[in-house]
Amino acid sequence: MKITDYFFDVDYTLVDFGIGHEQALRTLGKKYPPAFVDHFAKVFLTFLEGLRVKDNNWSKVPGGREHFDSVMRLSRELAGRITQHVWSREIWACIARDETHAQLTPAECFDVASLYWESVIAHATVYPDVAPLYAHLASHNSRFHVFTSSDARLKWDAQNSTWIYESKFSNISKMKRVKLVQTEGVNITSVTLGDLDDKPSPLFYKRILDTASQAVGFSLNPQQCAFVGDSFESDVKIPLEQLRLGRGYWLCRGNGFREISESIRQIGTLGEVE
Ligand SMILES: [Mg+2]
Repeated sequence: MKITDYFFDVDYTLVDFGIGHEQALRTLGKKYPPAFVDHFAKVFLTFLEGLRVKDNNWSKVPGGREHFDSVMRLSRELAGRITQHVWSREIWACIARDETHAQLTPAECFDVASLYWESVIAHATVYPDVAPLYAHLASHNSRFHVFTSSDARLKWDAQNSTWIYESKFSNISKMKRVKLVQTEGVNITSVTLGDLDDKPSPLFYKRILDTASQAVGFSLNPQQCAFVGDSFESDVKIPLEQLRLGRGYWLCRGNGFREISESIRQIGTLGEVE
């Protein structure tokens, strides 16, 4: 069955987040203690690679599964009720502060996250293979959608000594990256951002298809939809199973083309999306 609708993850798929992240770490390094910034970077890598783990291979995760489980647990403890927001830089700053004994208040951890995001947005770029892929899909009358996790920005509520989440505030930095893709001339049919539901929740995947169906004006056939992203589990495998999608592309930049299963393909560039 012909694929008519393609759904793309944003960070590391359409947007080179790594460039922005590296620059943001340099910016933080000018203001905060090196041990704190190094640890903040380590927590990031632990989450990024931990969530990318496939076939139980933890070799790319700093400190392995043990460290991943530990930062996940700390994250939940520090964020309180807001447990689904594992990507919160505010919380990572708190973890890095606690583990390096840096003298920072929660309000200052919020400032760390704000400076981080400012720098990411100023330096992240769109991968060069996005515009040609869009031209290819558009020439086949296929639609281009995006789905992406929340940046999980939190605000410190000093009065109640707790972190609070407001989706509008949290979405500002994420939407700036979506706009970056649009500046390349990409016409995006629908955008679904992680909010209170997020990857890998079945509710989130359902919302992606519902949002897209609403945008096109009819109920999309999942068999004619393909998901593309750099996280094997949460961008490809799980949504394919949950929604019974037609196809999935697991983007491993720099690696070659490989058929993983009848419906899942590993690709090294977006040029390999068919
Ligand atoms: Mg990604």
